[in-house]
Amino acid sequence: TLDFHPTGRHFLQIPGPSPVPDRILRAMSLPTIDHRGPEFGVLGHRVLKGIGQIFQTKHPVVIYPASGTGAWEAALSNVLSPGDSVLMYETGHFASLWNKMAVRLGLKPEFLGLPGAEGWRHGVRADMIEERLKADTQHAIKAVCVVHNETSTGVTSNILAVRKAIDAAKHPALLLVDSISGLASAEYRHDEWGVDVTISGSQKGLMLPPGISFNALSPKAMEASKSAKLPKAFWAWDEIVEMNKTGYWPYTPNTNLLYGLAEACDMLLAPEHGGLEGTFARHRRWGEGVRAAVKAWGLQIQCADPAVYSPVLTGVMMPDGVDGVDADAVRRIIYERFDCSLGTGLGKVKGRMFRIGHLGDCNDLTLMGALAGCEMGLKIAGVKLAGSGVQAAMDYFGSHPAPVALQK
Ligand code: PLP
Repeated sequence: TLDFHPTGRHFLQIPGPSPVPDRILRAMSLPTIDHRGPEFGVLGHRVLKGIGQIFQTKHPVVIYPASGTGAWEAALSNVLSPGDSVLMYETGHFASLWNKMAVRLGLKPEFLGLPGAEGWRHGVRADMIEERLKADTQHAIKAVCVVHNETSTGVTSNILAVRKAIDAAKHPALLLVDSISGLASAEYRHDEWGVDVTISGSQKGLMLPPGISFNALSPKAMEASKSAKLPKAFWAWDEIVEMNKTGYWPYTPNTNLLYGLAEACDMLLAPEHGGLEGTFARHRRWGEGVRAAVKAWGLQIQCADPAVYSPVLTGVMMPDGVDGVDADAVRRIIYERFDCSLGTGLGKVKGRMFRIGHLGDCNDLTLMGALAGCEMGLKIAGVKLAGSGVQAAMDYFGSHPAPVALQK
């Protein structure tokens, strides 16, 4: 086994799974209880209330003991029928995987997007969605599926603009949004933005280990699920939503992760730290600091549009041409020498970029540590840097204190 670093904490700077705060680890270490006993109902009500506040919804949120991929399948199979047309948008690797799943489920996805690797540097173009829906005069398209925070690139998308595009086209398609890595870090409003199903997972902004995932519903989505014909049994919302009213689940839920979820909701919603708005502000500020570092290095940020920079992670592109160094070689040096894991480039951008996560159990100094590891690793790998990113990030964090309400 690789055991270069017997002491100190590993820097888990990938964009999920994110580092889990000690408070959550302690909460999860409580004894597993009877999932049909009286205590469990209290826990069930508590997590369902908390997670509704995180999604900013008054409607049911279904919790699955599954990774995010399971919750993707749940969303599609609850509201769609075999052969249904769905409009998906290629923002990156995860949008592509969701598209692949739609094909495997027997749906007919149409994949909009800008061409080539350059297309992966921008968010969803709502105008392209509007134009396509307007052309669909027979209303064959049953759902529009977009990724809120594309984890493979560090690009977000304007979900409200997509909602408005669907409305402007006067099209009845459902809006399905993957906010697996956006929720609880990047601003997200399920009800206000008119989303029909939001999919999320535990191991990103919620700061939990992998293992549970979510579908937040709308009344329109619940109605659609009554007549949708794709096979569904374990994923079916109806029995779960019904039994959740009593604080229980129709199967054995993931008790210890639910302890963790209850604790995470308390932390993320804590009024003394600014509530959800405070959470979003912390991530925006960390994103700014990390991008200041990348710019000072003279490297390019994968996201080409500042309006949709991700507050969750930053994609760092390697220089092209003769100076080009494989991004995975840099990651390997940083891992082996400095005990820091960074996200690899996925799909079309493999080897061309790496990703720095700013989510989970994170603060200014953990980020400074990660950036120091990056800077040392980039230099060792022979990447020519224009200047010190570490200095630029220190200058940014030093001169931009977190709002008082956010300080502990
Ligand atoms: N969608 C996005 C945006 C993701 O970031 C991920 C995982 O990183 C997934 C879907 C897949 O989720 P999981 O790996 O939990 O199945």
